[in-house]
Formats: sequence, structure tokens, C-alpha cells
Amino acid sequence: MTKGQTTKKVCVGNVALGGGEPIRIQSMTTTKTADVEKTVAQIVALEKAGCEIVRVAVSDEADALAIKEVTAKIKTPLVADIHFSPKLAVMAIENGADKVRINPGNIGGETEIRYVADCIKTHHIPVRVGANTGSIEKNFLEKYGRSAEALVESALYNVRLLEKFGVEDIVISVKASDVPLTVRSYALLAQKTQYPLHLGVTEAGTTEAGVVKSAVGIGSLLLSGIGDTIRVSLTDDPVREVYAAQHILRACGMEENYVEVVSCPTCGRCAWESMSLANKVTEFVRPYKKKAKIAVMGCVVNGPGEAKDADLGIAGGNGVCMLFKKGETYKKIAACDAEEEFLKEIRLLLDGE
Ligand code: SF4
Repeated sequence: MTKGQTTKKVCVGNVALGGGEPIRIQSMTTTKTADVEKTVAQIVALEKAGCEIVRVAVSDEADALAIKEVTAKIKTPLVADIHFSPKLAVMAIENGADKVRINPGNIGGETEIRYVADCIKTHHIPVRVGANTGSIEKNFLEKYGRSAEALVESALYNVRLLEKFGVEDIVISVKASDVPLTVRSYALLAQKTQYPLHLGVTEAGTTEAGVVKSAVGIGSLLLSGIGDTIRVSLTDDPVREVYAAQHILRACGMEENYVEVVSCPTCGRCAWESMSLANKVTEFVRPYKKKAKIAVMGCVVNGPGEAKDADLGIAGGNGVCMLFKKGETYKKIAACDAEEEFLKEIRLLLDGE
């Protein structure tokens, strides 16, 4: 893909990705898929958080069969993640998966690949293929070592195996846990293909390290115009993955309709508990899909001035808090009423327009 070109558009259920569509947010359930009740509950929580495509693991026939019941109870398109088994891939598709994540290289020979490819074509669904540092095809690992070339060639080898049997709607990923390697791999891949790219840093880790690694890796690729869908991998509740993905898109300037909460780091001038209020406000405004900026600042000395572009803000003082709009204070409230009063003002601002 040369700069300025868009990728091919593919549809996962009713969600299109690539071809200039918005960057789609994905996540993956952590439940046993065959446990329909738990799986649906988690997917509904993910939908509510803003997840647009959800992936489930299919490790046995019970999981593959459960897809029928799960998809009947959710709105989000569902991707079935299958390794090694052509039979499970076909079962998952026949039970309603909107996309499959497979590597044809590990599901068998030509007969098995043709069997799955025919099913994919009959049901008109896309496939994600990819390589990560743990699954590079042996010959590419020997030829290139553990490198961007090995990841890209390994992924493209799997793409060609599907193309050979007429599969055209393909999404590709080349994930590593090493951020610079991930970024180099996707940049190289983007030069070689027009298929949409699924971005992610694999085994990113627990929340703090994982969010940073994903933000740096995914964020730098998005800012250079690479990527069509993203998944933040965290060893945490997958809802956290969706929140982190949203923050990455926002930080990259790719999502505007949200309420931004700015808050100061506090310092020795801070005279009240601004940190806990900042966290509460962040949760409170999460469901709103409109562009606005709310500030929670530690002191009245510098707060209103430092946050003068905020539509609404609060700054604390000695037992008293100031409410301000665009840097101009307009109301004094007792610090003990700060939370209740400020949330009321936010509701007025966001609901009252
Ligand atoms: S707004 Fe006040 S408390 Fe917050 S960092 Fe600035 S000077 Fe410190």
C-alpha cells in the first residue's frame, strides 16, 4: 500500500472496516465460550463499553455450537478464534460466526484449507490471518530470524494459502510483544498489501504496562496512517481493553465525540481531595457521546487559568470550591458539597443543550 491509498473494505457482520471506515475497536472474551450465560454477559458489557467487534475462543465442539446461541443474544459481530482444527472452523462458521481468526498454515494440507475456504466463501465472511512472534512459520524464522521480515512473510504466506482457494476478504495482523518490532512489522506489511490491518501488541501485560505498550505501538502506527481495527491486549477485564482503545483513538485525534476530563497532577498548593473527584467525573461522563471538556483542578490559584479552555471546571480551596466556565469563575460552593454540586452542573451542561 502506498501512502494516501486506503485499504480494502471488508464487512464483519454489519460493521465495515478498512477502506476509510473509522478505526474499529475490538476485544476478546475471557469466558469459556460454551458457557453461554457468562459469555453473553461479558459481550453485553463490552458492547456497552464501546466494543464494535468481539472475538471468542473456540477450542472444542461445545464452543463452536454455542456460537449460535451467543450470536442470537448480542448485537456485536462475533469473530471465532480457531487453531489447528478445520472441523471447528467450519462448525463455528455454520453456527453464525461473522468472521474467523485462523492461520491456514496450521489447519492442515490443501484439502483441509480448501474445505475451510469453501465454507468461508459460501457464508461470505472475512478471515483474519496473521503471525505473532510465537507463531512464525519455521522456514521464515530460519531465513530471517525473529524479525519484521519473518513476521510479514509468515503472515503473507498464510494470506496466499487462502487466496489460492478464492478467499478475498482478509484482514492481517503481525503482532509482537516487543513494541519497536511490532511497529516495524506493520509498517513493512502496509507497504506490501492493501488488505485491512488489525493492530495490536501481543502479550502486552498487566494494565499499567500493557496500556502504555499498546498506546505507543498502536498509537504510533495510527498516527502514520496505518491500521483499520485495533485490539488492546491486557491481562485484565476486557472492558478495560475497550476503554484503553478509546483513549488511544482519542489521543490520536481519531475520535471527537466524547467528554474529555482534564485534571491537574496536584502539587503542594492542592487544598482538597481532587483526585477522587476526577476519577468519579471520568466514570460519570463515560456514556456521553458529545464533544466537551471538563476540568478538575487542585487549587483556585492556578486551576481556572490552567484549564481555561474547559467548558466547565472545578478548583478547590480552603473549604470552598470554585466552579468556572472557560476560565471565568461563576459560582462558589462548600468543598463538602463539591461532588454533588459539580455532577449536577455537568449533567446540566451535557443534558441541557
Ligand atoms: S492547578 Fe494548582 S494544585 Fe493543580 S498543579 Fe496547578 S498549581 Fe498545583
